Amino acid sequence: MEENKRRKFIKDVGVGAAAVGVAGLAGVLSSCKGEQEAPKPAAKAEAPKPKTIEWKMVTTWPPHFPMLGEGADNFAKWVDEMSGGRLKIKVYGGGELVPPLGVFDAVSQGTAEMGHGAAYYWAGKSPATQFFAAVPFGFNAQSLNAWLYSGGGMELWDEVYAKFNLKPFLAGNTGVQMGGWFNKEINTMDDLKGLKMRIPGLGGKVLAKAGGNAVLVAGGEIYTNLDRGVIDATEWVGPFHDLKMGFYKAAKYYYYPGWHEAGTGIEAMVNLDAWNKLPDDLKAIVEAAAYKCNMWMLSEFEAKNNGALQELITKHNVQLKQFPEPVLKELKKLAKEVLDEVADADPMSRKVYDSFLKFQETIFDWNKLTEEQYQQFKYL
Ligand code: CA
Repeated sequence: MEENKRRKFIKDVGVGAAAVGVAGLAGVLSSCKGEQEAPKPAAKAEAPKPKTIEWKMVTTWPPHFPMLGEGADNFAKWVDEMSGGRLKIKVYGGGELVPPLGVFDAVSQGTAEMGHGAAYYWAGKSPATQFFAAVPFGFNAQSLNAWLYSGGGMELWDEVYAKFNLKPFLAGNTGVQMGGWFNKEINTMDDLKGLKMRIPGLGGKVLAKAGGNAVLVAGGEIYTNLDRGVIDATEWVGPFHDLKMGFYKAAKYYYYPGWHEAGTGIEAMVNLDAWNKLPDDLKAIVEAAAYKCNMWMLSEFEAKNNGALQELITKHNVQLKQFPEPVLKELKKLAKEVLDEVADADPMSRKVYDSFLKFQETIFDWNKLTEEQYQQFKYL
């Protein structure tokens, strides 16, 4: 090819060549040199093999625990798939690497790069954490999503956890929970006095205000404690999970509604140093896996709860009971007092609670016109 033609050719193919890549262009140009000169094969640049990053994820759940632990397992699987194996996360059940309630410290200190649990387990670290899991008489899953993703809540969660060298993600939701398992009827507030109940977070503080004794026990130990009478009652999640936990063998009354947890957020957390070292595309993948985990878990619970409830009632003779309205009204009053006290005692909790309240006002106004109006006709 003459030199001027060759120059024109280069100009013409320039844009396309950028897409083909430098090696491709070398091939195109060499092929223009004519038959006599055999085209040299494009130099095969040895692409550096992407570095595989290996993380450990510790969880507050027993290994492969239905729904919750499965969510953690799925999270790791999705990250592996989306990253083409560049980020491998090995999931540890509670107690396998660190105790279930040691997750926060382990990830904070970098013993593990990731954790999976629920933010209200960490009230002892910072009371503000509790608002990101469940607030008594507070948000359902839809409103929690809206507050965290679109209403400024996530930025506050980031702020609370950054103090502990952690980055939080919403990575699951239980939907509206049940009120719990009891061996005696709850007819008046007096029935809550002296009651030793496993109930975490702010709900536990409300029970304490009502004269009960709230204890925090990790999931794997609740059944034994209930069965042995170490605790009188327990709340857990909802029918699907409670059936698997076998609580019906240790308590006969199953109360609703779960006033204390109307849509509990499940979290993933990442050690901030590990997070900051991650390339941007892997950060986006971790974030996407958290979104997926949130939607997957909520959908699973919603789809499977009623079948399990029917099994509890018909097969295991569980007595379904509703908390009396006066009891719920009184608990709601106490909940407000508890939330004010928590916020008054800790500036960060105040900041988070103010954001929560502000969002609650607008979302409840909207829901009164939409959800509530619709609910009146939904079941006709
Ligand atoms: Ca619960």
